[in-house]
Amino acid sequence: MKTALDLSEAIAVVHRDMQAHLGQGRVADYIPALARVDPRRFGIAAATCDGQLVCAGDGAEPFSVQSISKVFTLTLALEKLGADLWRRVGREPSGSRFNSMVRLEQEHGVPRNPLINAGALVVTDALLDRGDTGTTIEGIADFLRLRSEDPSVDIDQEVARSEGDTGFLNASLANFLKASNNLHSDVADVLKVYFNQCALRMSCSQLARAGLYLTADGLDPWTGERVTTAVRARRINAIMMTCGHYDASGEFAFRVGLPGKSGVGGGILAIAPHRAAVAVWSPGLNAAGTSHVGSMALERLAQLMDWSVF
Ligand code: GLU
Repeated sequence: MKTALDLSEAIAVVHRDMQAHLGQGRVADYIPALARVDPRRFGIAAATCDGQLVCAGDGAEPFSVQSISKVFTLTLALEKLGADLWRRVGREPSGSRFNSMVRLEQEHGVPRNPLINAGALVVTDALLDRGDTGTTIEGIADFLRLRSEDPSVDIDQEVARSEGDTGFLNASLANFLKASNNLHSDVADVLKVYFNQCALRMSCSQLARAGLYLTADGLDPWTGERVTTAVRARRINAIMMTCGHYDASGEFAFRVGLPGKSGVGGGILAIAPHRAAVAVWSPGLNAAGTSHVGSMALERLAQLMDWSVF
């Protein structure tokens, strides 16, 4: 019978094994404030259902969570709208780039899933609901502060501004959604909230802690709080598995075997149901915008711990 390693040993092995690969991949440079990050950084942290938090390398260093935020806004929107959300966004893998305009036009303004940019903009609009941008941004940040049990979680204003200055494709998607009657608030307001949620700064430790409710059927295993229903938590995991890495979601499922969500800041959040939430960070990306070393690290950890949903 296979014997899995102790988690701390496994994390130490992964940290050691990744040293030879540091610097591989390409740092996202289409958001100027992200282009300056040192590509050799590497962090990893795992929070387990039974109360451990194991961290290595730069695992305590905050970075730009970018699209990992989409998992948390999806959770909030499902709590707010329930199944009505699915009238405005689908749940099929897109097979195209994260910011594809062609795909949105083909789908007549109903984005394929909530984890591509167009879908995430609809989710953000559902949270904003013609309301105040400041209150909505604080609501999202507060959710992350609560889930990570860390009031210091905050938004990097420079990154938010940098995205605002250069986010022409996101603006195109938002305008197309508006023209398709699938955005209720003003385009500028939706973009403002979206750029701020992407600019949240969190460490691997904070992210792993925050993601724990997705490992335990929607219940925070450390505090016993119900964050979302069991069915919703499973469905969020299903969407992370099928859509969490855009057009490379199949590859991630094949190699890692866990639901995950990437961000172009180089972070990935992965969920090993009933065991642990794991976050990795390494800024060099592959062609699909997923951390190159981060996905290698998760593949190695899943193998060492014998974690897979399959
Ligand atoms: N803020 C990024 C964008 O909208 C997020 C993309 C990502 O992290 O995958 O372009």
